[in-house]
Amino acid sequence: MSVQPPPISPCHDPASFGPAPRRATRQVHIGGVAVGGDAPVVVQSMTNTDTADVAATTKQIGELWRAGSELVRITVNNPKSAAAVPRIAERLAMQGISVPIIGDFHYNGHQLLANEPACAEALAKYRINPGNVGFGKKKDLQFAQLIEFALRYDKPVRIGANWGSLDQSLATRLMDENAQRPEPWSAARVLREALIRSALDSAQRAVELGLPAERIVLSCKVSGVQELIAVYRDLATRSDFALHLGLTEAGIGSKGIVASSAALAVLLQEGIGDTVRISLTPEPGAPRTQEVVVAQELLQTLGLRAFTPMVTACPGCGRTTSEFFQELAGRVQEHVRAKMPEWKISHPGAENMTLAVMGCVVNGPGESRHADIGISLPGTGEAPAAPVFIDGQKSVTLRGERIAEEFVALVDDYVERRYGRLAEAG
Ligand code: SF4
Repeated sequence: MSVQPPPISPCHDPASFGPAPRRATRQVHIGGVAVGGDAPVVVQSMTNTDTADVAATTKQIGELWRAGSELVRITVNNPKSAAAVPRIAERLAMQGISVPIIGDFHYNGHQLLANEPACAEALAKYRINPGNVGFGKKKDLQFAQLIEFALRYDKPVRIGANWGSLDQSLATRLMDENAQRPEPWSAARVLREALIRSALDSAQRAVELGLPAERIVLSCKVSGVQELIAVYRDLATRSDFALHLGLTEAGIGSKGIVASSAALAVLLQEGIGDTVRISLTPEPGAPRTQEVVVAQELLQTLGLRAFTPMVTACPGCGRTTSEFFQELAGRVQEHVRAKMPEWKISHPGAENMTLAVMGCVVNGPGESRHADIGISLPGTGEAPAAPVFIDGQKSVTLRGERIAEEFVALVDDYVERRYGRLAEAG
């Protein structure tokens, strides 16, 4: 009996390898950063300082920017924080930090923007949650006032609906309508529809008030992975507004990272999403910048963008009891990440470099040959020698106490030769 190859599924078809083309969306310009259209997917983040604390907020925005955040959102929730916004913008400019700041408004945004024109001017975009604009009869009026400020100050707006602050009157109306259906939808489907309708109807209202569609970004955030995928697939087929992706309240530690990555990877692979934020709850003592690193690594591992050289490292097993290769992998990754802001200017393209740090001879030489530069460390019982492979060829064998330093130096040499200005000229 002959063994037949399995049928080729779309996943195995080399022609369909890689992410789907990005869905065509309108391009929005946020303080000089393009979102949507043919622009690359943009990384954004949000501070967790008290915005009224000018020094702390400026410091954290600087940290997020240095980590690679291309947009930073801050909460503007009271008069003190609104008054702080222009002072924060001024300090950032004095420090040479050029990142668009987005103001997050709930309940009283119309008052804060009216009372603090300098805040309205300093922000690059306003984020409005249609479920929290106001209540009852005031809702439409206050929404219109917010759009009026966006028009007056020439700012784009994110209309960001959220599962946790759904427009209750809309949800109730859709529930009532659903009850009249011959075959009613599930309650979960009605709530998803309410979330999407809240964003789309608000965007339509903003357009009717005069805000161009090219100044609107939409988001519909939920905290469940499958719900988020369902909501955005639907949203993407029903409008061409630029979309901001994020799993809200993703959680802490590995759970938050895995849940966000699982949801966003599916959507990005389908070409959905123009800007992303990873809403991690920081672990005690962990830097806020972790959410930026995760967003960048998600986009880079999907092949959508390159930010920093990626290190391939084996997980280790009983063939190497040494922790040296783990330490070296971490050290190399930290080194290239720290160097990247400088390399970005002096050695463009270095972000595409691939590195490998492997624990023994089983997969070490093979994986190292696949990388631009890789090292295969000796496993237990192997000769104490670490061959280095550069561009697929064995280059040198390192030995002794200074393997780590010498390998890092080889990485720097490689970057200089391949991506340095002289290399480019040659
Ligand atoms: S490369 Fe060697 S040490 Fe690393 S996981 Fe494979 S067998 Fe184990």
